[in-house]
Amino acid sequence: MATKAAEKRTIKSEMADRNLKEAVLWESAGDKKVRCRLCAWRCVIGQGKLGRCSVRKNIDGVLYSLSYDKLCSANADPIEKKPLFHFQPGSKSFSIATPGCNFKCVFCQNWQISQTVGEDGFVEGRAVAPEQIVSMAVHSGCKSIAYTYTEPTIFMELCAETGRLAKEKGLANVFVSNGYQTREAIDFAKGWLDGINIDLKSFSDDYYKNLCKARLQPVLDTITYIAAETDIWMELTTLVVPGKNDSQDELRQIADFIVESCGDDVPWHISRFYPQYQMDNEIPTPIETLQRAYDIGKQAGLHYVYLGNVPGAKFESTFCYNCGAVLIERAGYTIAANKIRNGCCPECGTKIAGFEL
Ligand code: SF4
Repeated sequence: MATKAAEKRTIKSEMADRNLKEAVLWESAGDKKVRCRLCAWRCVIGQGKLGRCSVRKNIDGVLYSLSYDKLCSANADPIEKKPLFHFQPGSKSFSIATPGCNFKCVFCQNWQISQTVGEDGFVEGRAVAPEQIVSMAVHSGCKSIAYTYTEPTIFMELCAETGRLAKEKGLANVFVSNGYQTREAIDFAKGWLDGINIDLKSFSDDYYKNLCKARLQPVLDTITYIAAETDIWMELTTLVVPGKNDSQDELRQIADFIVESCGDDVPWHISRFYPQYQMDNEIPTPIETLQRAYDIGKQAGLHYVYLGNVPGAKFESTFCYNCGAVLIERAGYTIAANKIRNGCCPECGTKIAGFEL
């Protein structure tokens, strides 16, 4: 059996070898256990064990991030790709990720980076400091940094340090998220997070349980909290999967929830499913289903409804909800024209909601 001194040496060398970062938002749960307060799982983690996301570890009664600066992706993307359609339209967003996720979606588009952290918590990735990330963002002409591709909540330490530096340089920060943050995590990000796109994947707890190994209610709570208690610009995305969440009833429940909890100005992106990962034998979403979802969103009173993953679709563009004028003409991720003037429709003067339109 290892002595206490030998155990301490092992811990120290693990921390040095892996450049571990003490986690934010955790507390002691007694007996050298810790409770993580970043996401709705609120894992209680025993000494030497990992949280559910496998990238946070209790070492000697202290919680550490194992993925802190281990970038697995970095690209200058159009902000439209997030998707964020009412946030600095036509700009580039420096988009980064570290490996891991707190969900296990069977249709994950990025499973090669989100679902490949081993049970030993070994995280592959290139160590890149927040200063370097901000510098790369500035030099590539980006107006924001996006924490995306995997779930940013579980690499909050890097997001916060990078986000604060980015603000000093005049850049905005956005999350693309599954919406499983705790209120504490949202409050923690309030000072530097400007925008967020949240996946509202379904309105059924069974869907979340069976296809994502998660729960619905925490996501609804996050969306409601952000809308009511923060200035963070929010857009929502629903991937419509044939036979799973495409019923008239469910789509109407989602649209009604958005209007009632967030108001009619929150954009709703209805996204087309393509077979992938563990659902590679399914069919892509029929266009008629997406069109039906679009109509449901508009009937519910939403001002801005978009179809995603359907290049060339009319409803990729932004229309004035009052007079119907085309305001932002899109072709895929490209902006053909942005006619919004001082945040308003040039035809009828209606105010268009968004961030630096
Ligand atoms: S971030 Fe990870 S460790 Fe923390 S509560 Fe969520 S799943 Fe658990």
